[in-house]
Amino acid sequence: MQVEVDRLRSDVEANAEFGSLDVDGRGRTVLAGTDANRRARERLVDRLEDAGLDVRVDAVGNVAGRWTPPSADPGAAPVAAGSHLDSVPEGGIFDGPLGVYAALEAVRAMQDAGVDLDRPVEVVSFTEEEGQRFADGLLGSSVAAGERSVEDALSLTAERVDENGDGTGDEETLESALSSIGFRGEGRLDASEWDAWLELHVEQSQRLERAGVPVGVVTTITGITHCAVDVVGEADHAGATPMLERTDALVAASEFVRSVERAARDADSETAVGTVGSLDVSPNATNVVPGRVEMGVDVRDVDYDAMNDVVDDARTTLARIEDERGVETRLDRRFDLRPTPMSDRVREAAHDAGEAADVATLDLHSGAAHDTMHVAKVADAGLLFAPSRDGVSHNPAEWTDWDDCATATRVLAGALADLAGA
Ligand SMILES: [Zn+2]
Repeated sequence: MQVEVDRLRSDVEANAEFGSLDVDGRGRTVLAGTDANRRARERLVDRLEDAGLDVRVDAVGNVAGRWTPPSADPGAAPVAAGSHLDSVPEGGIFDGPLGVYAALEAVRAMQDAGVDLDRPVEVVSFTEEEGQRFADGLLGSSVAAGERSVEDALSLTAERVDENGDGTGDEETLESALSSIGFRGEGRLDASEWDAWLELHVEQSQRLERAGVPVGVVTTITGITHCAVDVVGEADHAGATPMLERTDALVAASEFVRSVERAARDADSETAVGTVGSLDVSPNATNVVPGRVEMGVDVRDVDYDAMNDVVDDARTTLARIEDERGVETRLDRRFDLRPTPMSDRVREAAHDAGEAADVATLDLHSGAAHDTMHVAKVADAGLLFAPSRDGVSHNPAEWTDWDDCATATRVLAGALADLAGA
């Protein structure tokens, strides 16, 4: 099979024009349901149809193009691949679109080579992966996996934006945003009907670059826990209150911040990370001893036990700080997503495809969330990474060399062909 780097490149570059920014590098802002998003979607539909795929758009705007080769049973469960076309504000041109257009290029390579498949192949673009307007992220895939209902998704609201992407001050629902760009379709794309799923994405860190390996095969997508932590002391006069008579919530909180760093570093798992990413100090005045601090803690790992250890350590630390400093504390573990292991069968197909194409592959985990997390709940799912230069993403400096894009797409094509019964 011959993946054509120029064909893939021209697709990704044409898509990069929608919402493009006048900045150093190649930046774009493509939020779900905006005019830039409409144009990106319309071009995708055109390109899918150019390749002879049957395109449908579901009620939440997920786009799927199906190729049923003459050799395939049209009723067989398809093998699907894709990613997303939306971006973060001032994002890069590869995060998302590479996976969508690589899936299309893989189909074109299979068509050109005349491979005989038992199953149809589906190219998918999910709605609002980045979660910048309507939801926290992974919106379209959450509906496709049955985690969120169509009705619930369509009733989500965000500020309406004009053609330039500027806020207008009034609200609109996802349903009205999709209707206004012509992508409020029918029915629900159902990922549980897929035999297998494979997403190609940029790595967003430097492990492939450092290892000099062009393709990563993800073993597990990290789990994520968010805890809200309150430390309550007593607000007091910064001048009139002697040092030994204070109950300073911020000094107590600072011990907690250090302890989260230490607990994640000392965890039994090398991949565990812990971050106190937000701090809200009250009353936040220079001449007042801080009376209260609210913190947001983010803990991630591929090992759920290690995640729990970091949270347990945080609780122990808070109990100690209460004793030592006289503050009151509370920890609320308000969000918890377990690690998602990728399917052995799909990973094996990816490694085999690498071997057949003489491309080295490396097992690694994903520290970022992807649509594949949702799909993995209902279908055998896999995730491939292409190298990110300097590990940069969500930034116009995001870059993956075109040859690396093509190399990863060769592995994607080989794996999809294998999974579809070539
Ligand atoms: Zn992405």
